[in-house]
Amino acid sequence: MKHHFPFFTANPSVTYLDSAATTQRLQHVIDSNQRFLATDNATVHRAAYRKATLATETYESSRAVLAKLINANSDEIVFTSGATESINMIADGLSTSNLVGTKILVCASEHHANLLPWQKLAKRLDLSIEVLPLSENGTFSPTTFEQWVKLIDEDVCLIACAHVSNVLGNIYPIKQLCLLANKYNAITVIDGTQAVAHLSVDMTDLNCDFYVFSGHKMYGPTGVGILFGKYHQLATMQVSKLGGEMVSNVSYQTFTAQPPPLKFEAGTPNITGVIGIKHAALFLMENFHQIISHERRLSQYLLQQLRKVNDLRILGNIGLSSVLNESAQINTNENIEAPEGNIGIVSFIHESADNHSLAEQLWHQDISLRYGHHCAMPLLSSLALGACLRISLGAYNDKTDVDRFISALLHSLGDIK
Ligand code: PLP
Repeated sequence: MKHHFPFFTANPSVTYLDSAATTQRLQHVIDSNQRFLATDNATVHRAAYRKATLATETYESSRAVLAKLINANSDEIVFTSGATESINMIADGLSTSNLVGTKILVCASEHHANLLPWQKLAKRLDLSIEVLPLSENGTFSPTTFEQWVKLIDEDVCLIACAHVSNVLGNIYPIKQLCLLANKYNAITVIDGTQAVAHLSVDMTDLNCDFYVFSGHKMYGPTGVGILFGKYHQLATMQVSKLGGEMVSNVSYQTFTAQPPPLKFEAGTPNITGVIGIKHAALFLMENFHQIISHERRLSQYLLQQLRKVNDLRILGNIGLSSVLNESAQINTNENIEAPEGNIGIVSFIHESADNHSLAEQLWHQDISLRYGHHCAMPLLSSLALGACLRISLGAYNDKTDVDRFISALLHSLGDIK
């Protein structure tokens, strides 16, 4: 797959293992942006001349492709600047007329982007925040889910949970969570940022109210993302950004907003971003089975190799499929359907080394991985850690990348001990 990504031709010595932070860009994405900027540039939804009509058609065709990627309708797809903006828009747009209950539940491993906006909403509407806990070391297990089930009741107005944790790689049982939430009319906001390029994602199947993700984590551009909302949710949600294009009628005193999704797209949008994300989505759809099975095999190999390193503490679900297969039999009304495998995000610390020095040693050997709190400070605190190392795989990684990393890791450990 590396041949689809010019970064690797330009940087043959780099072992890129940081796709959870951002993925490398597809050549198709770069080409589509180059083409538009060089020969087809015009703005959308405004003028009737040929290039402008073409730009609008291209822009709207992107919405249709993104809808197809996640099995939704086009009018449920809002273009935003990324997952962070999408979640903020939801949190700012909800009011007591959408929310029944007084409690927001957030999963313990949430990225700050799926936590801080809920803190703001809680303050605005006088709601409380409670945490869907994880087991020791950040694992999700049948017992964990039983604890979650007990916390979901008629007092819950909203549940915010990632589909996949950006730190632990845990795949959460979103379908079952939404089933429970729906029973109590709680709104579900699923952060799909780390899922959409690595799992099959289907809005009809998951049945969540909102689902968000970012272009740059799925081989597309930065500065573009998706806010999926069920149409009736988008129709009743308030807009937080006002201006041109999002209105159907304006007087000096008032305005009438367009129907969704355009009511949420005030101002001139990121047209190249939207064109780029379309090409990323097309790539994923064309290669999905190959990508999923390749990443699954590679992450199993990575885990096997990591487990051989002494004193390494791997966080979260390891050997995920066995944990979740067990969970299919758990004794609750809502069985957890077992997602298969680990999607290739593995965080760890070495118990007897200085982990910051270890990360530095790895950087010096051109291993691009992440060291830090990964924008999940409360999770790291709950694990009694300030930081950890994280490897995250993408479609372009191969066995050589894992081998290079493991040998650099062993070399570094030898050097710093
Ligand atoms: N949610 C998760 C799980 C993430 O991993 C990230 C980015 O790392 C975000 C949200 C925020 O994405 P963005 O910065 O593209 O808005």
